Amino acid sequence: MKNVAVIGSGTMGNGIAHTFAQSGYKVQLIDISQDALDRGMATIAKNLDRMVAKEKISEADKENTLSNITTYTSIKEGVANAGLVVEAATENLTLKLKIFKDLDELSPKDAILATNTSSISITKIAAVTKRPEMVIGMHFMNPVPIMKLVEIIRGYNTSDEVTNTIMDLSKKLGKIPTEVNDYPGFVANRILMPMINEAIETLYNGVAGVEEIDSVMKLGMGHPMGPLQLADFIGLDVCLSILNVMHDGFKNSKYAPCPLLVNMVMAGKLGAKSKEGFYDYAESRKAEKVAKMFA
Ligand code: NAD
Repeated sequence: MKNVAVIGSGTMGNGIAHTFAQSGYKVQLIDISQDALDRGMATIAKNLDRMVAKEKISEADKENTLSNITTYTSIKEGVANAGLVVEAATENLTLKLKIFKDLDELSPKDAILATNTSSISITKIAAVTKRPEMVIGMHFMNPVPIMKLVEIIRGYNTSDEVTNTIMDLSKKLGKIPTEVNDYPGFVANRILMPMINEAIETLYNGVAGVEEIDSVMKLGMGHPMGPLQLADFIGLDVCLSILNVMHDGFKNSKYAPCPLLVNMVMAGKLGAKSKEGFYDYAESRKAEKVAKMFA
């Protein structure tokens, strides 16, 4: 499996393309516009430059990595020779179902189809293809070139063979894969989002202020970032949508999003990417840089 197609060149897609290309894979990076692809490639080049400056890789490694990536605006051309497709397009159920229908028709019959979705059911995505045993979740963490974890999600029909191939492949990328089953939120978000939601509920109930809540979790629990700041960086809209998926999926009120979170999203306070969430990011250049990383 030397040819990997990556669908979407946004935050996650360009990081996934970067990671495969740096490990020697030929990557076909696909997005809907050349503009989006150019932005993705510029991000990859900038991140590689940073690695060169920190002497983590050489200038030649950077050039090799970039030369391993080819860009396409057509799924048909981009996936023609792929052994693996990793889909990292916008988190939208209708869009992902359409992409997987197309991928099933256009990819080689033996290609594994993976999705980087944060919350959509792998089993539901697999069901629109004629190869559900070859569909799997490959949930990379942001920023992809740096974070070690890949949550490998087995859909209801995913075969052992495909799971083992993707586990081995993730190790070849220098990652640490963890196998989990396909239930709402998988493992990472099932545990993280209720914690974030509870932090918001604590604020909503007036128990403590934003900085106090984050301080307790940072200083008391050793978290590198408090839950409210983390929510700002993930995006409050993203947190809300993942909580809604878990609430719908389990029909359990413990996943019901806090009304304050719902209100903030409706008011357009989405966190760092909209320059305002639990914290105000308008003034801080450092915060803007982090916001871009998560946008
Ligand atoms: P993003 O908005 O930064 O990028 C999405 C990209 O997909 C855009 O460039 C868009 O043009 C492209 N796209 C949309 N429709 C397309 C199509 N039909 N064909 C090809 N490309 C298309 O989003 P993101 O943050 O990179 O998220 C991508 C996926 O990764 C989502 O499923 C998300 O849930 C998941 N994810 C995100 C994070 C995160 O921290 N951002 C972490 C883990 C997983």
